[in-house]
Amino acid sequence: MIEITVISGKGGTGKTSLVASLTSLAPKPAVADCDVDAADLHLVLDPQVKESHDFSGGKLAEIIPAKCNSCGKCYELCRFGAVIKNENKKPAYAIDPISCEGCGVCSYFCPEKAIAFEPAINGQWYISETRYGPMVHAKLGIAEENSGKLVALVRDQAKKIAENKNLSYVIVDGPPGIGCPVIASVTGTDYVLIVTEPTLSGEHDLARVMELVNYFKIPAFLCLNKHDINPAMSDKIENLALNAGIKVVGRIRYDRAVTEAQIKKLPLVEFTDAPVATDLKNVWNTLIHEINLLQKGSHN
Ligand code: SF4
Ligand code: SF4
Repeated sequence: MIEITVISGKGGTGKTSLVASLTSLAPKPAVADCDVDAADLHLVLDPQVKESHDFSGGKLAEIIPAKCNSCGKCYELCRFGAVIKNENKKPAYAIDPISCEGCGVCSYFCPEKAIAFEPAINGQWYISETRYGPMVHAKLGIAEENSGKLVALVRDQAKKIAENKNLSYVIVDGPPGIGCPVIASVTGTDYVLIVTEPTLSGEHDLARVMELVNYFKIPAFLCLNKHDINPAMSDKIENLALNAGIKVVGRIRYDRAVTEAQIKKLPLVEFTDAPVATDLKNVWNTLIHEINLLQKGSHN
């Protein structure tokens, strides 16, 4: 089983559309949507939810009014300003769940044991079936953090399912950016596919993403989306990647069919036979060819 994580450095580069087509092209895939802050792969892959689970990224403190004697100890101790004064009320203190960092100090030191410290439900994650294979995806609550932990969980579950079902690939739709959730989506993965566009911001984001994969020593490949909107920049970006030891596995042309396929909720390679679909098939074939070469090399 081979795990391929697709990342882009920022949103809006066509990453999810690419992932949908790779999932359609891959034989025996499982798919993990790790873009948990803005999950939209389900819009194309139409998963049927089989299991739903709560996700807890940490604990939250809450004062139990009947036990609290309003001594103010928690107010003094909380370094995050999460304990607020409840003027002229009983109890005289309350905890703001948005500010609470879940450190547990107030609960530990409360003389009356009046602070409950329970796992907070920050979102849900799902095991679903799609017409391509199993899919693990998630929904993080609004303004919730700890998405790195949820990303790791989604990936882990998809890998377990793929192993149990003897599947060939896990295709991971990674989160945007280069922060904690992206690190959680690439650490320990077999291969990274970076998708970028020939724009100034694409060039900038690519540099950051390449730094990340090189730091973690993950074999990475590059695919240029909408390469024909700026051929000179496409060449520049390809050279950047090649100089950093990252092979280019294909260029995808700009085509309005990408948006039309999304509206029809279909992976592009199923929506059209236009040259843009051939571009995508070439990306997949070249990627697998390169991966096979690397694997043969590592076994020799
Ligand atoms: S430390 Fe405990 S008893 Fe004192 S104000 Fe806070 S919750 Fe109430
Ligand atoms: S758990 Fe920590 S952050 Fe939350 S209210 Fe208590 S002391 Fe403050």
